[in-house]
Amino acid sequence: MGKILCVLFPDPKTGYPPEYARDTIPVIAGYPNGQTVPSPRGKLGFQPGELVGCVSGELGLRPYLASHGHELIVTSDKDGENSEFDRHLPGADVVISQPFWPAYLTAERIAKAKNLKLALTAGIGSDHVDLKAAADHGVTVAEVTFSNSISVAEHVVMTVLSLVRNYLPSHEVANNGGWDIADCVSRSYDLEGMHFGTIAAGRIGLAVLRRLKPFDVHLHYYDPHRLPANVEKELNLTYHSTPQDLVKVCDVINLQTPLYPSTEHMFDDKMFALMKRGTYLINTARGKLCDRDAVVRALESGKLAGYGGDVWFPQPAPADHPWRTMPHQGMVPHISGASLSGQARYAAGTLEVLQNFLEGTPIRPEYLIVDAGNLAGTGANSYKLA
Ligand code: NDP
Repeated sequence: MGKILCVLFPDPKTGYPPEYARDTIPVIAGYPNGQTVPSPRGKLGFQPGELVGCVSGELGLRPYLASHGHELIVTSDKDGENSEFDRHLPGADVVISQPFWPAYLTAERIAKAKNLKLALTAGIGSDHVDLKAAADHGVTVAEVTFSNSISVAEHVVMTVLSLVRNYLPSHEVANNGGWDIADCVSRSYDLEGMHFGTIAAGRIGLAVLRRLKPFDVHLHYYDPHRLPANVEKELNLTYHSTPQDLVKVCDVINLQTPLYPSTEHMFDDKMFALMKRGTYLINTARGKLCDRDAVVRALESGKLAGYGGDVWFPQPAPADHPWRTMPHQGMVPHISGASLSGQARYAAGTLEVLQNFLEGTPIRPEYLIVDAGNLAGTGANSYKLA
C-alpha cells in the first residue's frame, strides 16, 4: 500500500465548493499534435468543471486511492521545516504537487524522502523538483504534458492585448467612476502590424503563434529546434538562431522556455539592453527566467512598455514582491494553467499516471521527465540537468 502526499492550493476564501458560473465544460477530444487526452481507467472522482486543484478538491483522487487501500494525505502547508509536507515526506512513496502552489522538492528534501519513488506534477513544468537529485536518487518525475498548454496560450493572448491596448488601467478608470479618455489612450496601441516573437515554440509557444496569426502581426520565433518547414510557411514565421537576435526586432516578446539551471535569468539587464524602447514582455513560463530587479528597472526606464504574466519566484510571492507594484504590469497569481477546464485534464492525467505507477503499467513517454536515473520522454527534449 502506498502513501501519497499531495500538496494543493488552499480552498477558496468563500468556502468549498464554490458557486460555479457554468454547468458544463466542453469536451476536448484530443490535442493539436495528435496526442490523446488523459485516459485513466474507471470512473473519475469528480465532475469535469469542478474545482479540484484545491485541498478539498483533492484532484478527485480519493475514491480510486481509498478503494485500492492507499493512504492519501492532502495539504497546502508546504514551506518551512515544520510544515505538514516536511512531516509526511520521509514516509511518502509519491509526492504530487502543482506548479501554481509548488512543493519545492530540493536536493535536501529528496535526500530525506527515503521512500520516494514518484514526483508527479499535476500540470506542466517540473522545475520545482531538483531533477538532478531526483535522477541520482532513482525518483521518477512525471507531468501531465499538454493538459493545460492551450489554457496558458489563451492567457498569453489575453495578456498581449491587455498590455498593448492599456486595458487594465482603463478598466480601473471605469471602476473608479471616471471617464478620463486621454489618460486611458495615451499608452494604448493597436497590435496590428507589430512584430511578435516567442522564445520557445513548443506546445504553448506554437499555440500562441497560431492564435495571434489572425491579428495580422509579423510572427517570429526562437527554439533550439526549428519547426517543420510547412508550419513556418503556414504562419509566415521568421526564425532567429538566438534569443538575442529575436529580441532586437520584436515589439512584443513571449517567454515560453522551461526553467532549468542554464535558462535561469535568461532575461537580465544585458538582454533588456538589446531591446527596442517600449517592448512588451509576457512570461507565463517561470518567474526565475527573468532577473526580478532587472524587470523592474526596465519598466521604470521605459525599455519595457509593459510586463505581464502569472509566474513568480518564490510562489506564493511575498506581499512585498516588487512585481506586485511595479509600473505598467499585468501580473496575476499563477493561474493561467489552472482554469477549471485545465484542472479537469491535469487531474485526469494525474490519476492516469498514478494508476500506471501503482498497478505497474508503463507511464506514457510524453508524461516522463526523469526516469531510471536520467532525463526521459518529454524531459529529454525540454530540460537539461545543468
Ligand atoms: P514544451 O516542452 O512543449 O515546450 C518547451 C519548448 O522550449 C520546447 O520547444 C523546447 O525546445 C524549448 N526550449 C528548451 N530549452 C530552451 C532554451 N534554452 N531556449 C529556448 N527554448 C528552449 O512545453 P510547453 O510549451 O507545454 O510549456 C513550456 C513551459 O511553460 C513549461 O516548461 C512551464 O514552465 C510553463 N508552463 C506554465 C504554465 C502556467 O500555468 N503558467 C502551465 C504550463 C506550462 P526543443 O524541445 O525544440 O528542444
